[in-house]
Amino acid sequence: MRGMVGSIEQVFGMPVRIVSNSGVSLASSSREAPLCAMINEEPAGRRACGAIVSEVKRLRVTSSEGATHGCFTGARYRVVPIEYEGGTIGRAILGPYLPPSVESVPDTLLAIEGIDPARAAELLPHMARATEATAEIVSKHLVAVLDVILWSGHKALLTSKMHIASIRESYRELSEKNAALEQAYERQQELDKLKSNFLATISHELRTPLTSILGYSEMLVGGIAGELTGPQLDFVQIIQAKSDQLLKLIMSLLDLSKLESGTVMMRRSDVAIGVVLAEAASTVAPVATKKGVTLTVDAPGDLPLVLGDPERLRQVFVNLGENAIKFTPPGGTVQMVARQMATEADVSDEPGMVLLAPLRQMVEVRVADTGIGIPEAERDKVFDPFYQVDQSSTREHGGTGLGLSIVKRLVEAHHGTVHIEGHEPTGAVFVVRLPASRPSAPPSKAAISVRFA
Ligand code: ADP
Repeated sequence: MRGMVGSIEQVFGMPVRIVSNSGVSLASSSREAPLCAMINEEPAGRRACGAIVSEVKRLRVTSSEGATHGCFTGARYRVVPIEYEGGTIGRAILGPYLPPSVESVPDTLLAIEGIDPARAAELLPHMARATEATAEIVSKHLVAVLDVILWSGHKALLTSKMHIASIRESYRELSEKNAALEQAYERQQELDKLKSNFLATISHELRTPLTSILGYSEMLVGGIAGELTGPQLDFVQIIQAKSDQLLKLIMSLLDLSKLESGTVMMRRSDVAIGVVLAEAASTVAPVATKKGVTLTVDAPGDLPLVLGDPERLRQVFVNLGENAIKFTPPGGTVQMVARQMATEADVSDEPGMVLLAPLRQMVEVRVADTGIGIPEAERDKVFDPFYQVDQSSTREHGGTGLGLSIVKRLVEAHHGTVHIEGHEPTGAVFVVRLPASRPSAPPSKAAISVRFA
């Protein structure tokens, strides 16, 4: 606004001042005219000038045309209202300017005590000059420019207010959602804890009577309570098998709940994978032999060690071996083959040159069977708890759908990966990759090659 009033003074030579309704000066272009400065040097002049200024300030301006007021110097002031949205918000004061009719120092100025007529005559021509018509045009122009400034300023103010309001609203909504999420997260954690406790308690409560059922069945089969007839023996053996199945389910549920809640303790040591594979194979070998499935294990002697829990790793390969035998028809083969491989360390989210990424030594185990295989679309889903590809065929094979989810979690707990590939012409290959132990650890030395048929 200050720039605008300054440029009006420059273009039209007329001083301008803008004041608010309460009389506060908002912008002023006027340097004091030399004649006015001279008058203000005299006490009587100062008083007379002050009286004119307060008359101008109090001037009633009713129409948008404004009003004019004269000064004892012969100069005039034009006062126009500044209106916005139907109300007056301030006024613009143009002047003092001399109309062309004032050619010499008027008597009203000379009548003031202490005024030097010669100096007054010398300074009078330096006052701004304008006709009333010019003053009116300038005031109209000024009002029009002020209108635009006010409108755009007000619009910008409204827009920013709206922005601030919407940001406040979004912030409030976000805070509410955050609080709700935090609450839900805490509740979820509580529920998780409850679930784990519940599972642990229930499993314990189920395991105790189940152990008795298994124990007594064994005694019955062993003939401790007398010789059983053929059908009696069959029935007791069914009780035994089903109780065994139930016990496995309970153990798997317990394992999974512990893995999910992160409460599994791992005893880490340098592990020779070949030895783990041979142990796992010997655990599942009786089932393979009974079914007529050939089971082999091959691991080279220079295989690096893996830093992990041998018991947990054995559980991984027992699960994979059991599945492979379960889904392979008699006459088929299941092979567990270990080898060393190097992969690029994952540097995708790090800055720097990818080409220089260090290679990471891994131990890869492929558990390949010649069974029914797993369709490509199902290969990720089978790692979800309780997921089974074909419920009807698994009913025939038994199983809970928990084995692979436990395998995946255990492998990931060793910072490894597991995925499934197809096997030609038929069958599935489970590929487990585990990071090798520290480079300083010696390789596992003895090569392992086992065959159960
Ligand atoms: P379970 O074997 O107890 O049903 P898993 O989690 O071990 O549960 O396996 C989930 C499902 O994945 C199995 O029901 C089966 O459909 C499929 N699957 C697992 N291993 C194999 C395999 N070697 N060949 C074919 N299908 C398999």
